[in-house]
Amino acid sequence: MIGTAAWADVPTVVTDIPVVQSLVAQVTGDRGTPAVIVTTGSDPHDFQLRPSQARALATADAVFWIGPEMTPWLSAPVEASAAALRLSLLDVPGTDLRSYDGGDHAHEGDADEAHGHPGRDPHAWLDPDNARVWVLAIAEALAARDPQNAATYRANAARAAQDIAALDADLGVKAAAVTKGIITGHDAYGYLAAHFGLPIAASLSGGDAASPGAARMAEIGALLASGDVACIFPEAGHDAKAIAVLAEGTAAKAGEPLDPEGIALQPGAGLYADLMTALIDRIVRCAG
Ligand SMILES: [Zn+2]
Repeated sequence: MIGTAAWADVPTVVTDIPVVQSLVAQVTGDRGTPAVIVTTGSDPHDFQLRPSQARALATADAVFWIGPEMTPWLSAPVEASAAALRLSLLDVPGTDLRSYDGGDHAHEGDADEAHGHPGRDPHAWLDPDNARVWVLAIAEALAARDPQNAATYRANAARAAQDIAALDADLGVKAAAVTKGIITGHDAYGYLAAHFGLPIAASLSGGDAASPGAARMAEIGALLASGDVACIFPEAGHDAKAIAVLAEGTAAKAGEPLDPEGIALQPGAGLYADLMTALIDRIVRCAG
């Protein structure tokens, strides 16, 4: 009978990372706050699922997550979950997807873009257009399973989409002040850079946030010495001192830590706006 009964009470909703919890919470509103697996301070790229979390996933009514490229360790538990609704946000039609290799654009549903494309950059929430598409899709998915509350989900999502559009316009004005190159911690900023026109010169590590090797560090050192870089940013949860040392004696400044996954932010519905605002404000403060 799984999946056939309407949710009589508040559905149990599980999300993968704080930014997804924020977007889903904006849609569920008074219908309950979704749970989140990767809690404050943890690295979503490298996380160990606790047994209690595995049980919560297995018995949830609904699971919303970015997808296997973001959290490969979550693929099997999501597949094994009995949840009638399991939605990978990267698979939502209309999502503007980027790949790591050169930033090609591909829309989900394009003929050649198979599901699970290994090159898909999962940090897609950093393009506010995707966040807007997602809140509407989250509402439709919930409405289909919980028709009694469909109007609530849709109204909440419409308001959230409006808020995101207003935020986007605001941040766009600020971001225009950044014209000189910046260096970021891990390769998470392709969407942000493309959407807001930010000149990202390089990233210390790849999209999986693994530690950079000696060759990579030498390249970064050469870039900093070139004088073409305004700013190098440490990342939340990583050593800011190492970045300050790298910038020393070059024309580049060390910025405040960037937190593209919101691991240092207060969780809740407001996290998405906090995350985007902090990213743009910190980049502008150092490189604007
Ligand atoms: Zn990342």
